[in-house]
Amino acid sequence: MSTPYPPLNELRGRIERACLAAGRPVSAVGLVAVSKTFDARHVRRVADAGQRAFGENYLQEALAKQSALADLDLEWHFIGTLQSNKAREAALHFDWVHGVDRLKLAQRLSSFAAARSRPLNVCIQVNISGEASKSGSAPEQVVSLCQSVHVLPGLRLRGLMAIPEPPADGGDPRAPFRQLRRSFEQARAQGLPLDTISAGMSQDLEAAIAEGATLVRVGSALFGARA
Ligand SMILES: *Cc1c(COP(=O)(O)O)cnc(C)c1O
Repeated sequence: MSTPYPPLNELRGRIERACLAAGRPVSAVGLVAVSKTFDARHVRRVADAGQRAFGENYLQEALAKQSALADLDLEWHFIGTLQSNKAREAALHFDWVHGVDRLKLAQRLSSFAAARSRPLNVCIQVNISGEASKSGSAPEQVVSLCQSVHVLPGLRLRGLMAIPEPPADGGDPRAPFRQLRRSFEQARAQGLPLDTISAGMSQDLEAAIAEGATLVRVGSALFGARA
């Protein structure tokens, strides 16, 4: 039995309408509920309403919530910036790591993932807006990074992830997501079996879905504003 959590219904409605508008089946877009800064009780309410995948940015915070919620069958996504010295815990305690942006990090994840029963799902983060300050692989390097990561044992390369800047006033909100999709298609054209475009947050999930996102990562629209 599930206990309703109204913001989840509203969000599912938004995702559904965006899929309809894009001519895509609703089943093509999954939801990662981004629970960073919200406590385990709040996560449990959302889980009790039927949500299974949760995203976290901070390792220690996530590990504490995971143990408080160990009685639930949840899927955990690490979506934050991952330092190499945290790769072991990420590889052992998460089902997905979205922000892989360099080979060295992928190699470390791979070495620790050998201890897992199932491969660790990973996405390569692409730096769409081209800013030096943000993490992510340069778009020109994405395909070659994918090729290197694809062959690493213990990992299953699923696709690409991005956190685009909001567009400037009057800018096309879909442009960065279109660029991400182009990188995804280039990688697939090279024979890489990618099935995931991880993009779209509370403010821009419609634009992301219009450009092919398969996993949206939504926090505030579900949990409320973060302090
Ligand atoms: C916080 C965060 C989100 C969710 O953002 P909202 O605007 O709260 O929906 C998604 N992805 C990443 C990588 C984040 O850090």
